[in-house]
Amino acid sequence: MSKEKKIPYKIYLEEHEMPKSWYNVRSDMKNKPAPLLNPGTLQPLTYEEMRGIFCDELCKQELDDTTPYFEIPEEIQKFYKMYRPSPLVRAYCLEEKLQTPAKIYYKFEGNNTSGSHKLNSAIAQAYYAKKQGLKGVTTETGAGQWGTALSMACAYLGLDCQVYMVKCSYEQKPFRREVMRTYGANVTPSPSNTTKVGRKILEEFPGTTGSLGCAISEAVEAATSQEGYRYVLGSVLTQVLLHQSIIGLETKTAMDKYGIKPDVIIGCAGGGSNLGGLISPFMGEKLRGEADYRFIAVEPASCPSLTRGKYVYDFCDTGKVCPLAKMYTLGSGFIPAPNHAGGLRYHGMSSVLSQLYDDGYMDAVSVEQTSVFQAAETFARVEGILPAPESSHAIKVAIDEALKCKETGEEKTILFGLTGTGYFDMMAYERFNNGEMTDYIPTDEELAKGLAGVPQFPGNQV
Ligand SMILES: *Cc1c(COP(=O)(O)O)cnc(C)c1O
Repeated sequence: MSKEKKIPYKIYLEEHEMPKSWYNVRSDMKNKPAPLLNPGTLQPLTYEEMRGIFCDELCKQELDDTTPYFEIPEEIQKFYKMYRPSPLVRAYCLEEKLQTPAKIYYKFEGNNTSGSHKLNSAIAQAYYAKKQGLKGVTTETGAGQWGTALSMACAYLGLDCQVYMVKCSYEQKPFRREVMRTYGANVTPSPSNTTKVGRKILEEFPGTTGSLGCAISEAVEAATSQEGYRYVLGSVLTQVLLHQSIIGLETKTAMDKYGIKPDVIIGCAGGGSNLGGLISPFMGEKLRGEADYRFIAVEPASCPSLTRGKYVYDFCDTGKVCPLAKMYTLGSGFIPAPNHAGGLRYHGMSSVLSQLYDDGYMDAVSVEQTSVFQAAETFARVEGILPAPESSHAIKVAIDEALKCKETGEEKTILFGLTGTGYFDMMAYERFNNGEMTDYIPTDEELAKGLAGVPQFPGNQV
């Protein structure tokens, strides 16, 4: 028996070990995710129809269910090298604090100015827009990480960047807004009166503080009504999962170097991009029957799309201007309760993850926000990193799993995605620290209201 290699606190990769291709998990899925539909014809959205909204190359990636690997263009690899590889950390201090026999690892994506994994896809999307000769891109942002990431990528490549920021975040997170403006982005609070759909939403719901769904509608309208602009989205789409596979590929290479095999892989799930990216190469092995892993998606109890939603075609946005996607959804009109502070507030879920979940390849759990902030506090105090509330959903379940191991004596290896830092979420931390944070779990009746807005057509009933 060879002696077990001592695992360092942080496992980095050498430059030459970094992934040169993204992995497309759809290529190994027997049941492919359902295609996007044109809401007018209810037929699968064609490349030609998609081209008006997204960049050409990204449309191809979106539609490609079969190519396993996409080469990462040199220029994107170069950009990745500025802030990647991200560290894979062995959470020795957390293990000690919990007195668990479990071995805990996390992949930390917060080491860049955007403070999250979103930069991995932002640079890819901006690159393809630039290569196509476009003037700029439009997008929405909720908490602000995606808008910041896209601003950074656009500044680097010299593209115009227009961001519709959910109004309550715009007001609560002025510093996020200024980071974006520093990178040259134009930031508009949403809903706004700069778009038709924004004016309509404002008329219908005066005083609304906005939602991601509204902001998406506005950004899409802005892209399609300006020459030389396209819309880009930071999550949910299959192209975003593809770009985020860099997280899982780096993790897998790092773990393989030390002969580590995770038993459980955990990630928070908003639209599903970090989780999808982290699990992709491991899921590929599971789908091909080469290895087995347990995957857990963690979502907020106040926005429980996988655990309490329905698997149907739904609108991706409140204004119903986007294509229909088949996904676990709470209905595009669903807006989480105002006391919800933990992010992950999107009403739907990546169609790839939805299909994998429906086929039983992945589990999902929902957790309440006070317990999430408790886990964040525990983690921050022993591991040193102040985690984003979103990431803390994964921490919460990783700790729960580690404590189960303490009871059973199992030495499981637990891997989770630590998607980012929480420096701009101090209002939420303040509420937690003051003991003012509350939990809200929507009732079945409340969820039924949101689901009533799902489009009804043959084969698509809630
Ligand atoms: C955006 C974001 C998430 C959730 O998005 P996914 O697409 O589900 O990954 C999670 N954590 C952080 C820090 C984020 O910025």
